[in-house]
Amino acid sequence: MLLLIWGIIKSMSKLFKRTKILATVGPSIFDEEKLKEMVYAGANGFRLNFSHGTYDERDRQIKIIRKYAMERGKSVAILQDLQGPKIRLGDVKDNHYDVKAGDELILDFACKEHDGGNVLPVQYNLAEKVKVGEPVLLFDGKIEGVMTEQTSKTAIKIKVENDGFVMSRKGINLPDTDMGGDIITEKDMADIEFGASRDFDYVAMSFIQSAEDVEHLRQIMVSYGSTARIIAKIETKKAVMDDEVLEEIVKAADGIMVARGDLAYEAGAEIVPVVQRKLIAMCRQHAKLCIVATQMMGSMVDNPRPTRAEVSDVATAVLLGTDAVMLSDETANGKYPVETVREMKNVILYTQSHSKITPLDKEVTGEYVNYDAIAQAVVQLADKVEADLIAVGTRTGSTADAIAAQRPNVPIISVTSNPRVAGQLALTYANTAYVRPYAENYVVELVQELKGSGYLKPKDDKKDLTVVYVSGLRDEEGGTNRIEIRKI
Ligand code: PGA
Ligand code: MN
Repeated sequence: MLLLIWGIIKSMSKLFKRTKILATVGPSIFDEEKLKEMVYAGANGFRLNFSHGTYDERDRQIKIIRKYAMERGKSVAILQDLQGPKIRLGDVKDNHYDVKAGDELILDFACKEHDGGNVLPVQYNLAEKVKVGEPVLLFDGKIEGVMTEQTSKTAIKIKVENDGFVMSRKGINLPDTDMGGDIITEKDMADIEFGASRDFDYVAMSFIQSAEDVEHLRQIMVSYGSTARIIAKIETKKAVMDDEVLEEIVKAADGIMVARGDLAYEAGAEIVPVVQRKLIAMCRQHAKLCIVATQMMGSMVDNPRPTRAEVSDVATAVLLGTDAVMLSDETANGKYPVETVREMKNVILYTQSHSKITPLDKEVTGEYVNYDAIAQAVVQLADKVEADLIAVGTRTGSTADAIAAQRPNVPIISVTSNPRVAGQLALTYANTAYVRPYAENYVVELVQELKGSGYLKPKDDKKDLTVVYVSGLRDEEGGTNRIEIRKI
């Protein structure tokens, strides 16, 4: 066993994990030292969840993350996650209210304080959106109800279908309600404006129902001068019931998140694995980023080791070829945030080096056919010549994205003069991105530098690295047109 491990270490110099880890920032890692440990343990990106927290806290976290990413010499993505129309109950008296099947409840936006009766405060005017006969799920789906009547401009009546209880600020889901393109709340608008002036690589939008929702968000972000890429969170029934709608969303966004938590409440837990599989394939086909999220290592909130089911869940996402896997409560509120990242990394490394990812049954058709053609050739070449790595100069990230979409089994060292692009590529499959000022030979020089420092080592004790080098004659969009096999 020891000999085997030694053999692997010797032949592989450094194991690059090709599937990335996105960790959510919360109280468990607010501490500067903890955030630093997370960067060093293998987190490739951090999600700042704008359902909680203040702008001052966000500024502090961004500064710390950038500081330790720089110290570690790696690119890290920072993602702003917008709450969207996440509807919650208000405060419930004594934080507990029992309900029985057949009970009628009034959910009233104008109600400011719960008096213990059946009128409950709610943080959104449901009367504007929900129609009679539509389901209203309380407490993350634990209580099912149906709207029976609009009782005022701000209130609806629902009939409860099962026994249970509700608590303060628990989530409400409206699986059949059409938000009519109106999913960006006032709070989101303020958060988008704030985010546009800050160092965010990605903006994720919750409860996307259609491609139009994505386009609307993009218009707003452009008007604020944001340079972030858009992640559409897939967590509504409307988004997943029709494959065409789903594919249009994938194409309109820069990436998607399989937001399995709300998706399970809205559309039923049983559909989640199938939707996950479908979405990962769609993202690969369209060269978009894919993140699998929620409860991947859920038990590690309280325990130092994951369950076998969780390990299997992570491995499945890796084998389907997702770009990234996400941690939420595990790193935000759990007892073992750093250990969770380490465990996840172990699963990724073992899985990627012992099994191949599922082949795509369609051709990749990204934004530019030239890039797809070059990328396909690059990855085939890398396989044939048993390359140690692929190296690419990329201005907007598109060339690196196109190569990643082919899911190579060697690392992609990408070099860009734009720090925003490097931050974005931090979540992209197999990419290790570096920022260097553009120069004629900047990619080759960087690879030489990384070899010189011992970070990149040729496999099997060979003298030279075999590199498939992709470049353009100029540093310009669409300029990629040259593939070489280099010994470095
Ligand atoms: P959330 O999104 O954690 O922001 O709700 C992820 C999910 O719903 O799974
Ligand atoms: Mn959600």
